[in-house]
Amino acid sequence: MADVMDKLVSLCKRRGYIYQSSEIYGGLNGCWDYGPLGVELLRNIKETWWRAMTWREDVEGLDASILLHPRVWEASGHVENFTDPLVDCRGCKARFRQDLLTEAQREAGQCPVCGQRGVLTEARAFNLMFKTFVGPVEDDSARVYLRPETAQGIFVNFLNVQAAMRQKLPFGIAQIGKAFRNEINTRNFLFRTREFEQMEMQYFVMPGTEDQWFDYWREQRWQWYRRIGLPEGKLRWHQHLGDELAHYARAAFDVQYEFPFGWGEIEGIHNRGNYDLSQHEKFSGKGLQYFDEQTREKVTACVIETSIGASRTLMATLVEAYREEEVNGEQRVVMRLHPRIAPVKAAVLPLVRRDGMPELARQLVDELRPHLPVFYDEGGAIGRRYRRMDEIGTPYCITIDSQTLQDGTVTLRDRDTMAQDRVAAADLRREIDTRTEAWVAEA
Ligand code: ATP
Repeated sequence: MADVMDKLVSLCKRRGYIYQSSEIYGGLNGCWDYGPLGVELLRNIKETWWRAMTWREDVEGLDASILLHPRVWEASGHVENFTDPLVDCRGCKARFRQDLLTEAQREAGQCPVCGQRGVLTEARAFNLMFKTFVGPVEDDSARVYLRPETAQGIFVNFLNVQAAMRQKLPFGIAQIGKAFRNEINTRNFLFRTREFEQMEMQYFVMPGTEDQWFDYWREQRWQWYRRIGLPEGKLRWHQHLGDELAHYARAAFDVQYEFPFGWGEIEGIHNRGNYDLSQHEKFSGKGLQYFDEQTREKVTACVIETSIGASRTLMATLVEAYREEEVNGEQRVVMRLHPRIAPVKAAVLPLVRRDGMPELARQLVDELRPHLPVFYDEGGAIGRRYRRMDEIGTPYCITIDSQTLQDGTVTLRDRDTMAQDRVAAADLRREIDTRTEAWVAEA
């Protein structure tokens, strides 16, 4: 199965989805660049999330800064607790997270890289926050952190947003943005990186109603995955129990996706009680209570959080979409991305480069382009052009042929079934919209 990942990584580079960061200098571990197609896919995933989460009356959007007051991270517990247990191999000098070693490796102090036994150091707590300085003097008083999660920017703005938007409990604040974690080991392509993007929503509720809202958001989030083409059969819930559950959390469930290398978390849904707002009250000395007009009392709101990695989710959609198929004795590679998130929605292809077909095709591109990202290609045999589009996941190919010159119809080729239908050029937009809405991932 690792083979699939290798093929995917190479396709992503070759076709402009994902590049290794600073590759000409040998790359920087745990950082990746999104190429022309990757950036479109990422934007589409974020847009789908943003619409689902904020196009409603009870959720507001926010874009907080990446650098926050350092006290924020003391209040949140990150300065003290956002650590992984780091062990070193005295033999080959490799470094690992102790909690990711097998029990046998841990007991024998065995290095998973060089295989020597009794060579691992004791674990020490390694804080994952990247540190930097504000202003010209690099001393402790100027130290700030690159945020390791977007959530804290939301908590510190709770009352600002509530007052400005005249929101009443329950209501939520949603945010998409970069987060940074100095992970000890980065691995599995985009799965664990040092710089990534999160899409988080904190939903503030009246104390006593957390359980009901927790169930509600679990259901909402589960349904969302179908909108980006991840089928239910490849997803499962993982409940945090015992040590896994943060000390303040009342309940936590992860959504996991079945990657080629095993099940991995893509989203966490947490019932956090009133921990966050009470901590920020304590550390800032400012009141963050909500005034309930009905009871005329002040309450500290409780929080239900949904936190998903945009980059990890993007990788899940790529893994899910990648297929190798045999068609008439030839192999075709096809990315069955949901048309809603596919970077290019349709390709416009003149069958041949004469008889006015390229001109007609160009005219169609001009008509479609304000509404859809379309791609024009007149180079090479039509079959080859279809394959190039299959490989990047373009759901529809529109071909201009001699009949187009007579009656204004084109062929609309479906990426998944390869079926071709004749459609009036004037109906294309509607037809593509209808097909996109009706598209469902194979189970
Ligand atoms: P993990 O246990 O995998 O390190 P986590 O439980 O620390 O993840 P959260 O703090 O709950 O993760 O973060 C929420 C989401 O952010 C995760 O579900 C994941 O999609 C994403 N995420 C977290 N760390 C990374 C990372 N290093 N690279 C890419 N995405 C990440």
